[in-house]
This record gives sequence, structure tokens and C-alpha cells, in this order.
Amino acid sequence: MSSQSARRAAEKVSEILRQNGFQALLAGGCVRDLLLEVEPKDYDVATNATPDQVVSLFHRTEKVGAQFGVVLVRIKGCMIEVATFRSDGDYSDGRHPDSIRFVSAEEDARRRDFTINGMFFDPQSGRIIDYVGGQADLRAKLVRAIGEPARRFAEDHLRMLRAVRFAAGLSFEIEPETLDAIRFHAARIRAISVERIQQELARILTSPTRRRGWELLADSGLLAQVLPETAWSAADVADVAERLGYLPPEADFMLATAVALGRFAPQPAGRICRRLRCSNEQERGVVWLIENLPRVLEADRLELADVKFLLADSRFERLGCLLEAECRGRFDTVLPHDTLLSRASRIPPEQVAPPPLVGGEDLQTLHLPAGPIYKQILDAVYRAQLNEELPDREAALRLVHHLLEHTGRMENGKWKMENGKC
Ligand code: ATP
Ligand code: MG
Repeated sequence: MSSQSARRAAEKVSEILRQNGFQALLAGGCVRDLLLEVEPKDYDVATNATPDQVVSLFHRTEKVGAQFGVVLVRIKGCMIEVATFRSDGDYSDGRHPDSIRFVSAEEDARRRDFTINGMFFDPQSGRIIDYVGGQADLRAKLVRAIGEPARRFAEDHLRMLRAVRFAAGLSFEIEPETLDAIRFHAARIRAISVERIQQELARILTSPTRRRGWELLADSGLLAQVLPETAWSAADVADVAERLGYLPPEADFMLATAVALGRFAPQPAGRICRRLRCSNEQERGVVWLIENLPRVLEADRLELADVKFLLADSRFERLGCLLEAECRGRFDTVLPHDTLLSRASRIPPEQVAPPPLVGGEDLQTLHLPAGPIYKQILDAVYRAQLNEELPDREAALRLVHHLLEHTGRMENGKWKMENGKC
């Protein structure tokens, strides 16, 4: 669905609401993006029609946030969020209002988080309706809380991470009083569910502006709260920031997280991912990347088989990016990175992960009883194969015999390793 068709759909929704005597305005992020001349991700409509009135005017609707007065309208193949102008009551959980009231557009603007997110656009007249000074802050490139910053962050703590995300993403500054309020309330972010924290972190880390996002996280005091597993010294923060700056713009969450957690050993980094409720795939990926970085830093000393194992992994490209960022951050040369890539590029695709020359059935014909010895022998032979030490299957079988002779012997129908282990 193109942004143009989403815009047309939102305008159609507004038109129908207007024809029925209601006010209807484009609201929030899409107005900000239109003024910045960037393509909005989605278009939200705000109206004085109540959710029931919205539902009665459109064929296909779904009440998504009934308690917040939000109705999804499906129109022209797009889903448009239609929210009734509202003001929020008290916040007792640090995230959601206990109640809401339906109010005027102006009051609705005042419950929004930042001035740049608090504007409306009237699609009929083409006018911006700005009750909160959003246009001035857009020009000044400032993320400023609407109203009293400390109160706004005390109400909904997630807004603190949103401030960092918007400031980094737009290359804006956080307005000083707003930043002070975040520093003051930063510890409260821990009251927010870890899933929502992870979601915001992911958006910060997957943006091409991730370096700035990381610096703002540290500067606002939020980093120490969302990643409390270590005391982040200024030097640690700067090291990570520099490396994040070397990642390609499109780097994904797994890669950026491996950089962010680069000062942790693999297992502790994995535990942090688990605490943040990252997916298993992401957790395993971060662990794999952190585990393999020291190995590829000495890419010239890797066995050919190891280069092939790494190359066969779907995360190899990320490992290359991680290595390049590390080299550029740590040394004056990207030699290990170039070495890894040139070694990898010399391997013909069919030799990266060729079918094994020998398998478990070959060991069975030797009457080797089941046990860990199978895997040990097969792994060793496959490694030799990848190292291109075995021209053919006969050579591979000879190696099996050789390994068996040197690792143990049959005793009472059981394989005994020379070292006494079974
Ligand atoms: P994005 O482009 O990232 O979607 P957005 O500004 O559209 O940015 P949304 O999270 O989609 O952000 O929210 C839409 C609008 O709702 C915001 O522009 C803002 O006006 C309001 N809003 C969202 N979250 C909050 C919040 N936690 N507190 C107050 N207002 C909020
Ligand atoms: Mg949005």
C-alpha cells in the first residue's frame, strides 16, 4: 500500500466525517512528516465524532482501543486509525490513563507527547492547526514535551524513550528542560514493560541514526536503566557509539545489538537479550556474532574449514559488518576484515558446505556402537574434508580408520577411548 493511497484513504475518511457534520483532521506524526517533507508511515484521523458515531458511518470498522476512543476504519484497501479528540485522566500505572474524556481538538493536542507530534492538518482547507508551537519547534529542530515536561514523563514513562527516538531519528535536539526532566525521571523507565522498552530500543538501534540514538540514551540517563547489567563509563559509551557509526545504514537489530553488547561475553549478552524478550533467533544471533568476532579478528589464522563454517552461516554478512566496525574502531586498519572477505571470496560456492564424504552408516558397518564417538569421528573427518585434505571418499575412509586406531579400541563390544572416556 503506497503512502499516497493511504493519504487518499485518510482524506476520504475525513470527507465522510465532515459530510456528516463532524470535524475531521489529520493528526500527529503524519502532520509532522508532511511538514518535514518525509513520507508518513501512516495517517491518523482525529475527530469530534464519538467511536459509536464513527462505527455507524463506515462499513468496515473495528474498535481497537475502545477505552481510548480509537476505531480502525478499512477503506480503499487501507486501515485508517480514527481517534476521537480526547483528554487523558490520571495515570496510575506510569503508562496508560485510568480514564479518558472526549474533548475539543485543542485539548486533544495538549494530551499528545511532543509539540512536533501535536499538530493537525485540515485536508479540506490545507491548513495546519497548531495549538502547541509544533511548527516553531520543527524549524528549531527541537523535541519539546507539551506542557510541563516532568509531569508528562511522570504520567507516561515511555515518552522518555520516544523523545530519544524522535530526536535521533530526525537529527533534532531534545529541548533542555525536556532533557532535564528525562534525566530526573530516567529510573522510572524500569516500570515500563520490557517488551515496550525493547520495541523502542529496536527502533533506535535499527535507524541509520543509531549512533546519535545511543549517545542520547546515555546522555539522558536512560541507557543505565535499560541496560543496567554494567556501569557504562563515558569511554564504554563512546566505543559503542563509534562502532554503531560504522555499521551500514540498513543494519538490523541483531547486528546493532551485537555492537551495543560488544563489551559482554557471549553468554551474558545472550542473557540480556533474553531479559529484553528478544526472539530466540535474535538472541542466538547476538551470541554467535559476539562469540565469533575474536576469531575473525585473526582471520589470517583461521583454518579453511572454519572460514567455510562461518561462510555457510546465514549471519556471515552481519559478522563481516561487525568485524569491519570493530577494526575501524580499534585499529587503523581494516586488514582482518579484508582478509576474511578475500578468503571467503576464493571459496567456490559448491565447496562451502559440500555433502560429507562419509556418514554414520559407514561407521555402523565398522560395528562401532552408538555413542558420542560417532559425532567426534564424523566431525573430524568433515573438518578435514572442508580443509581440502581429502581428495575422495577412499581418503576419508582411511582417515576414519586412522582416527579409530588412535582414539580407542573395542572392548567387550564397547568402544573404549584411549583416554578412558566412553
Ligand atoms: P511514527 O512515525 O514513529 O509512527 P508517530 O508520531 O506517528 O511516529 P505514533 O506512536 O504512531 O507516533 O503515535 C501517533 C501520535 O499519537 C503521536 O504523533 C502523538 O501525537 C500521539 N502519541 C503517541 N504515543 C503517545 C504517548 N505515549 N503520549 C502522548 N501522545 C502520544
Ligand atoms: Mg505513527
